Amino acid sequence: MKTFQKYLFSILILLLFFVYSEVAKSPKTDGAEIYFFNVGQGDSELIQKGDFQILIDGGPDDKVLSEIGKAMSLSDRKIDIIILTHPHADHLRGINLILDRYDIGTIYSSGVLDTTNGYLEFLNKIKNKSISFKVPGVYEKIIPFADAELDFLWPGDKYKSTTLSNLNNSSEVTKFCYFDHCALFTGDIEADEQSAMFDYYTQKNLTNVFKVDILKIPHHGSKNGTNEQILKTVTPKYAIIEVGADNTYGHPHAVTLELLKKLNITMFRTDQDGMIKFELTKTGIIKE
Ligand SMILES: [Zn+2]
Repeated sequence: MKTFQKYLFSILILLLFFVYSEVAKSPKTDGAEIYFFNVGQGDSELIQKGDFQILIDGGPDDKVLSEIGKAMSLSDRKIDIIILTHPHADHLRGINLILDRYDIGTIYSSGVLDTTNGYLEFLNKIKNKSISFKVPGVYEKIIPFADAELDFLWPGDKYKSTTLSNLNNSSEVTKFCYFDHCALFTGDIEADEQSAMFDYYTQKNLTNVFKVDILKIPHHGSKNGTNEQILKTVTPKYAIIEVGADNTYGHPHAVTLELLKKLNITMFRTDQDGMIKFELTKTGIIKE
């Protein structure tokens, strides 16, 4: 081929590749997708239906940008809802990068006080970009799109404008359902705060709200995040551990892994399985 033809040919191949990768990303069915991003030692999850996105946490660094690029269409520059579970760097830092690159609808978080540079940067960006920031109430529900529901289960506003020695326990616990298939996102909430949450719902005869198909295991599979109480209350079919390979915390703990095995819960972990994706449809759950 002549140089010019070669040039045209390469352009054509590039175009085809672009079209193919965009088509591959676009939703093939009517389902709602849930991604557990592989962001190393940290948490980041995305719920997506068409061009509507809910991002829960952003992981420790820029890994979230390439992960979200695999899920969202390149032409979609808006994330409708962001939930920051709590202000620790392994959940927060990636969100600061997202705020620079996407239009954001509403941000939900506990409003707990924290003076780390990362969190102050987060609050500044929200202010400078005039993004709506809300502290959801206990059991506040929103309908993000048709046939879906997002429930803010805990902690409500009890940590709003207060300091907390263990920020893990300020984690937003959120349930997402599409038709009657649900996932529970737990941040890093530890056992003592979980007990308070379960007690509150037990008193109101509402423990069934925790029964879901997919559980994001709290606190990267640490011993203080998982016990029989949460697993027997939630009774998940699938448990997801978001964790970095060879992390210095020893996550996930052997006790957590043994408990999941004992209760016959299918487990996936981002350090071994990479990005984990589910599709929730009217009739069931597909693990992709
Ligand atoms: Zn964490």
